[in-house]
Amino acid sequence: MLSQSPPVDQLMPRRASIGVMVGNVAVGGGAPVVVQSMTNTDTADIDATVAQVAALHRAGSEIVRITVDRDEAAAAVPRIRERLERLGVNVPLVGDFHYIGHKLLADHPACAEALAKYRINPGNVGFREKRDRQFGAIVETAIRHDKPVRIGVNWGSLDQELLTRLMDENQATGSKLTATEVMREAIVQSALLSADLAEEIGLPREKIILSAKVSQVQDLISVYVELARRSDHALHLGLTEAGMGSKGIVASSAAMGILLQQGIGDTIRVSLTPEPGGDRTREVQVAQELLQTMGFRQFVPVVAACPGCGRTTSTVFQELARTIQDDIHANMPEWRKRYPGVEELKVAVMGCIVNGPGESKHADIGISLPGTGETPAAPVFIDGRKAVTLRGPAIAAEFQKLVADYIEQRFGNGRAAAE
Ligand code: SF4
Repeated sequence: MLSQSPPVDQLMPRRASIGVMVGNVAVGGGAPVVVQSMTNTDTADIDATVAQVAALHRAGSEIVRITVDRDEAAAAVPRIRERLERLGVNVPLVGDFHYIGHKLLADHPACAEALAKYRINPGNVGFREKRDRQFGAIVETAIRHDKPVRIGVNWGSLDQELLTRLMDENQATGSKLTATEVMREAIVQSALLSADLAEEIGLPREKIILSAKVSQVQDLISVYVELARRSDHALHLGLTEAGMGSKGIVASSAAMGILLQQGIGDTIRVSLTPEPGGDRTREVQVAQELLQTMGFRQFVPVVAACPGCGRTTSTVFQELARTIQDDIHANMPEWRKRYPGVEELKVAVMGCIVNGPGESKHADIGISLPGTGETPAAPVFIDGRKAVTLRGPAIAAEFQKLVADYIEQRFGNGRAAAE
């Protein structure tokens, strides 16, 4: 459940970063922290990729990254872009390139044009003398097409020549850095040196975003604090290989929450391993919830629900809280258009009389369900006042209708009459 947000003035000021336009979305430069996601379809499968990009965008992803790993995928990109435009989905697409990105972009200029940003991993853009040449070719393509680039270091594919050099220097100079500390420094240097090289080639600073993904929380915090200290580039945050289910959610939230609290991070992605057959949009929902619970952005109405205890032996209130939450998520794509400001709504679903009426009064609309042994009646509070008491087997459906009516009256066309 989403919880109430702290006042934003208790957060540290955002780190000043250079703003970068990714398609029509501003990243950094004081813009709100952007939520992004990545598809797991074969990009050459146009139908599946269009469907997943559209679903991620509907869930709230403001930028979507797709894999471009071979000719068939690169050839599909402009067709995916066209199909999305026809569906009214104008979300910027980012191409994820490894090993042969320079060749794919050169051979498929329509792909280079259709993408809103290129992601390059300096650790596997090429090796030895080829590395700078192939990195340079991608940067030159970005300059030609006026596209930004994310220089995305990943510790799993870290530039081994750089790591070896730093390890050797550490030993030769008698430095006391541990292997972990040298590895962190290599990640930071890989990002910064690659950004310097891109600038030397001619890519403007306002076309560069940096990321440095690792899989351990303490490594991520350390690396990003250092990147933030040593550069003013916009930063993309994300814990790589975060894992499945609650493990991935907790690890990503802990790492990114600490950095965001320090004002570090201009765009985030939560990399969850989906359950087999699971919903890819879950990573978008988690990213939104992280930003919302920290008070950075407001995406969806808050549903406050008590955890339940020995006073609630029935599952009515759990089911109602879940129904309301699911209803909100299912309706938000439409509500965003029809009900401007609806994301500010606060709903409470409480299990008994102990905290139910109090919490419900603090919400815009709240219900206090009867606990075990209480009179089978559920008072509903609207704007802090008791509005009606629901009874009988249809309490859930009646409360859902009251929520829908409240939204229509407050945020719909009828809001003028209500004010
Ligand atoms: S409001 Fe009632 S049911 Fe909910 S946690 Fe508190 S005491 Fe338990």
